[in-house]
Amino acid sequence: ITRTMLARVQAAESQLESATREASDLREKLEEARDNARRDPLTGLPNRRAFEEAFADATGKNEAICIAVCDIDKFKLVNDGFGHAGGDRVLKAIADVLVDQCSDRLVARYGGEEFVVLFTGLDLASAQEMLDSARQIVGRKRYRLRETDAPLGEVTFSAGLTAAGPGEPVSEAFVRADALLYAAKADGRNCLKIG
Ligand code: GH3
Ligand code: MG
Ligand code: MG
Repeated sequence: ITRTMLARVQAAESQLESATREASDLREKLEEARDNARRDPLTGLPNRRAFEEAFADATGKNEAICIAVCDIDKFKLVNDGFGHAGGDRVLKAIADVLVDQCSDRLVARYGGEEFVVLFTGLDLASAQEMLDSARQIVGRKRYRLRETDAPLGEVTFSAGLTAAGPGEPVSEAFVRADALLYAAKADGRNCLKIG
């Protein structure tokens, strides 16, 4: 009887062990899937979903929020002239500059060639300073095609920057920033509009 009981306990222990291992594998995969759902694979940046969640989170904490919508100027011409792979590398390079200049802020890829920045606990003037320094660095870079070293010409971006009111939903603040972005485009591109 003792031998049988011992064998059963050992079998149960090994089953428990493998179930625990399986649960921890699943947990890891779930974390990975959650991260993938919030990250853009090309630039490695958080995506629109992550941005909207972070915005809601900041609103919930009553933090001061500014958002910027940035759009690369005449990006279609880069793709048309140098191919999508060249365009992809430019996207990545611009993403890196935005991240560098907007240190500690959430820089996300909103869609195609559009980025958003979530500035929390910062006034409009300071957000403008960060963004404008990113704009100047991007505009000064001399991009070259890796394969042939051919110059890609100037690549710039335009942006709209706005402060979100207390409790304002992300969709409303975004519409305002987007309208400012369009004003920046209409004003000749490579500039920021603040409102
Ligand atoms: P504007 O100054 O008015 O913004 O002009 P634009 O050419 O940038 O605007 P348009 O909306 O006409 O073109 C956007 C281009 O961005 C078209 C699309 O092929 C390109 N694009 C979007 N996503 C990607 C991407 O992931 N990789 C590459 N290479 N191109 C992309
Ligand atoms: Mg666009
Ligand atoms: Mg564009």
